[in-house]
Amino acid sequence: MNSDVKKPVLYGGIEGGGTKFVCAVARSAADVIESATFATTGAQATLAECVEFFRAAQKKHGPVGALGFSCFGPLELRPDAGAYGCMMSTPKAGWSGVNLLAPLRAAFSVPIALDTDVGGAALAEWQLGVGRGLASLAYVTVGTGIGGAVAPGTPAASRLMHAEMGHIAVRRHPRDRDFAGTCPFHGDCLEGLASGPAIVARWGTTLDALPPGHEGREIIAEYLAQLATSIALMLSVERVVFGGGVMADGQVMPLVLEATARLLNGYLEPLRDPSRLKDYICAPALGGRAGVTGALLLAQAAL
Ligand code: ZN
Repeated sequence: MNSDVKKPVLYGGIEGGGTKFVCAVARSAADVIESATFATTGAQATLAECVEFFRAAQKKHGPVGALGFSCFGPLELRPDAGAYGCMMSTPKAGWSGVNLLAPLRAAFSVPIALDTDVGGAALAEWQLGVGRGLASLAYVTVGTGIGGAVAPGTPAASRLMHAEMGHIAVRRHPRDRDFAGTCPFHGDCLEGLASGPAIVARWGTTLDALPPGHEGREIIAEYLAQLATSIALMLSVERVVFGGGVMADGQVMPLVLEATARLLNGYLEPLRDPSRLKDYICAPALGGRAGVTGALLLAQAAL
C-alpha cells in the first residue's frame, strides 16, 4: 500500500508591486518551478490574475500548500484588527481599503501570510542573501518611494504598524536648501528628498543618467547616509542593505559609505574600520528576485 507516495509540498508566492505583480510556485524559496509577471492594474483585476495563475499552476504541478504575499503598502498587518489584510490609504488609485486576502481566501483554503514588499525582501536577504548567518538585517529600498524593514521583524501584533523608514526627517544638505521635496505629507522628509521622483523633480533625470561627478549623487548619498546612521544607532542590526532602482546607479553607494563614516565620526566602534563599514552597508544579493523569494519564505513559514 505504498502506491500513494506523498508529493512534496508546493508553495505559492506573490510579489505585489506598484507597477508589476510576480507570482511563483516553488518547491522551496530557492527552487521556483513556474512564475509569471503581469502589470499592476485595478485591484480586483490584478488579484484575479493571481488567482488564475495559481489555479492553472496547481493543475500542472499539484496542490499548493500555503501562499505568501508581499505587497506594496501601507498595509494593515495586525492580526486582531478588523481590517487585517487590507491596503491602508495609498496614493495608488483604486487600491485604498482593498482587502488583499479575500479573493485568495475565496479561491484557496490554505494558510496565507502577508507582509509588506520591503518586509518580504528583508526576509529573503536575511535568509538567502547577504544576511545569511547574521542575527539581524535591515533592508532599505530606494525607488519610487523609500521603505525599510528589519528581519527578523517584531510580530505584527505588537507593533503600531509596519515601519515607515522613508518618512523620517533629515538634515538638509547645504547645497540643497531650496528644493521643497515631493512627499505629499511632509514635503522634505527622506522620501521627499531622495526618492526617484525627488531626483527627477530636481535634475530632470534619474540618478544613473546624471553625468559623472554631478553633485546630485553626493546630495542623495548624504540623505541615505543619514538613514543608514539612524538604523545603526537605533536598531543596531548586523547589516544594512540598500536596494531599489535609485541604487542601480553604481556611483552612489561609495558616497553613501563615505557620508556614513563622516556622520558616525568613529562613534560606533564596530564600524570605525572603513572595510568593516563597507561590509556593513551593502547591495542586495538577490536583486530582482528578493521580492518573490520573500513571498515564498512567508508561505513556508505559514505552513
Ligand atoms: Zn514623507
